[in-house]
Order: sequence, then C-alpha cells, then structure tokens
Amino acid sequence: AHLDRIGAVDGDVHAFLHVDTEGALAQAKAVDGKRAAGEQLSPLAGVPLALKDVLTQEGVPTTAGSKILEGWKPPYDSTVVKRLKAAGIVILGKTNMDEFAMGSSTENSAYGTTHNPWDLGRIPGGSGGGSSAAISAYEAPLAIGTDTGGSIRQPGAFTGTVGVKPTYGGTSRYGLIALASSLDTPGPCARTTLDAALLHEAIAGYDPMDSTSINQPVPAVVEAARNGDVSGLRIGVVKELGGEGYQPGVEARFHEAVELLTKLGAEVVEVSCPHFEYALPAYYLILPSEASSNLAKFDAMRYGLRVGDDGTNSAETVTSLTREAGFGAEVKRRIILGTHALSSGYYDAYYGQAQKVRTLIARDFAKAYEQVDVLVSPATPTTAFAIGDRIDDPIAMYKNDLCTIPSNLAGNAAASFPCGLADEDGLPVGFHVMAPVMRDDLLYKVGAALE
Ligand code: GLN
Repeated sequence: AHLDRIGAVDGDVHAFLHVDTEGALAQAKAVDGKRAAGEQLSPLAGVPLALKDVLTQEGVPTTAGSKILEGWKPPYDSTVVKRLKAAGIVILGKTNMDEFAMGSSTENSAYGTTHNPWDLGRIPGGSGGGSSAAISAYEAPLAIGTDTGGSIRQPGAFTGTVGVKPTYGGTSRYGLIALASSLDTPGPCARTTLDAALLHEAIAGYDPMDSTSINQPVPAVVEAARNGDVSGLRIGVVKELGGEGYQPGVEARFHEAVELLTKLGAEVVEVSCPHFEYALPAYYLILPSEASSNLAKFDAMRYGLRVGDDGTNSAETVTSLTREAGFGAEVKRRIILGTHALSSGYYDAYYGQAQKVRTLIARDFAKAYEQVDVLVSPATPTTAFAIGDRIDDPIAMYKNDLCTIPSNLAGNAAASFPCGLADEDGLPVGFHVMAPVMRDDLLYKVGAALE
C-alpha cells in the first residue's frame, strides 16, 4: 500500500531519491514468513520506513544528496540500518535531503527540491525534508533523519509531524556520512509520539563501532510516550527564544500549548539562557570546520564520481575537477569557511572561540536544569516558507536554526511535536522540547501530553 502511495504522490512531493521496491517487498515477505512460523517479532516488524539518504544501506544507492556520490553503493549497513533490519522494519527507500545535510529546505539537494505536502509551493524544511515529507504525505508511517543543527526537528515542525533528536551518543553514527561529527545524531520521525518512541527504542543504544556512543541503558521512551503524565513536571520557557522575529501564529500556538501543559498540572516558569544568542554564530564556525575536514575524503579516488581521469591529468587535477563538479554551492561555501576557521593564525580566533561559546551554552542548560526538568520554545521562528524564498540569502536560511542549534551544541535531547496550525497561513507549527542528556524520556512525556 505504501509503495502504491509513493507511486501516486511522489511525483509531486519528491520525498524519495530511490525507491527500493524489490528490497522492500523481500523484507516484508521475510517478516510474513517469520510470523507464519510463529517467531517472536518486535513491535515494529513489517512496518515500512523511509531512510534519509545519508545513512548507508548495503547495496542500495546512497548519495547524501550530492552529485559526488552518484552511483555509489555502500558495501555495508550503518548501525541504524542493522537495527532496523533486526527489528523487521521494512526499508522502502532513500529520502531526499540537502547536500551532505547542509541546509534547511532541501533546496541544496543536487537532485531537486522536496515539496511540502501541506502546500507544494513551500519547502518541507531541511536537511531531512524528504523524510518528514514522506511521513506527512502518508508515503511511509516512519522515517529516519539525522540532526546536526535541527534537521530532524525543523522539517518535523514544517510538516506537522514528530521529529526527535536523541541525546548525542544515544544513537550510533556508524555508517552515517558525517557532516559535523561532534553534533550529528540520527533519530526518529513519525506521525505520533508513540510511533517515534517505538522507533527510537529500536535504533538507540550503545554501539562499540562509534567512539562517542554512550554505554548506558536507553531511556524509557516508550513508557513515557504511553504515559504522558506531566503533573508536577517543571517546564522552563526560554526567554531568549521568542518575541521579535517570531511569526505571530507560531507564538500563539506555542503559548496555547504551554497553557495546556499548565492545565495538565505542569509548573511553568520563564528561564533565561543568556548565551543562546551566540549559538548560531558558534555553530556556523564549528560545523563548517568539522565538515571541511570530513569532506576531504571525497577525493575522486575512493567513492562515486570521478571527473577528468583521461590518462593525462595528475591525481591532484582529477581530485580538483571532481570536487569542482561534484559539490554544490553551499558545500563549497562551508568548506571554504571551515578551512579558513581552522587555518593557522585563525584557529584560536574562530574555532577556539566558538568552542568556548559552546561551553557557555552547555552551562546555560546545566543551570536551567537545576530549576526545571525540560525547556521549551517554538521549534522554528516561522512556518514553512516558499520555495526559492531564501535560497539566495544564506543568513536568512541559517536563522531557521535559532531554536534547534543550542541542543546540538550541548548534546542534549530535543524534539518537535505538532501543536496546531498558524492562523496566517494554515501551516503546521512545532512545539520544541529540550531535555537533559539521557533524559529523552521527558520529551516523549510532553509530546504525549500535547496529543
Ligand atoms: N540547517 C542546518 C544546517 O544547515 C541543519 C543541519 C543538520 O541538522 N543537518 O547546518
């Protein structure tokens, strides 16, 4: 049924880069066989899922939205994919994304923009716009995204779906094509809080293949999603994430949701996180620095595209021609920024300073969590904007990430839950919840209460 649905609507939505019809049907049949044989199956066995094209799946084309990886078929499964398969989850195909997960709209994909199912003239968010659009358009009930600066939560908000960034290290990065290794976090996208929790549980947990994986039990996310009792929960509204620059309809739905939580017995206070205003500039130094280093491996020798290999050009020339042809404008912009920020003489002034700001932001969180259990804000300052609106203005595009980035810098858990539609444009608004490291369960409690 989901493959049929993809056939019917994906021409308009363009959520998928690759639909693995044969593979999906084979996986589904295998689950049927096990069920018929009376085997004990996981709760999500047989449920279809859309996979962001930044995670490797053995033998299935994986591009990370880039021309430089066109035609590459990974020889191994990422840990996330291994766990999906072990749970009997059926992988329908790979979803569209901004190239190497750099962007907030999917307009940076080398393979065309994904359209927001709520309004095809609008972007679905990014970088994981394909994953969120796929579930919003009923092409899949579940999806996997990755969140480095908001790429699960912001598309979730823009498409009226649930998007969860687990605690950094709570889900494995093994087999995830790296953007910024100290920030990248795979996580679940779904239409309901409980669906997201079930998927979270299926993919999370310690992985010795990832050096920053946390060796602790997975937080009790499913239990929290089933329970949703917020009475006595202390909720802090972040003063710095609201007001000027925020769309009135976004603020209205956000405040209504806060009121609802108060009615349900939560204790709500205002909390100040004074360094959050520096999160965006710090992120846009740290991320390009790490990205420029991670992307150095695309040298035309190891993966995908190779340009100018005619027997006369040197290896250096082939690398250079391939990178020139294979990377898009945003990727080049960030490689240049990152290389500059890391270069000798500038390292302390840029990268070093940004790392200090990162520490200050983590301290803001730590201080806030002395007073409250979770922090909340709108997920994004506005609803989904029109395709083409911000593509020529990188700074306007970066501002999308105002609310989501602090949690990436601090490594804590955060999520966006649907909280209604803005009056001005009838588009979905996301309610953003931030919880301490390894307290991912608290996110689901709030999400369930809001449903
Ligand atoms: N908008 C952010 C960026 O462009 C999102 C990155 C991400 O989470 N992958 O960097």
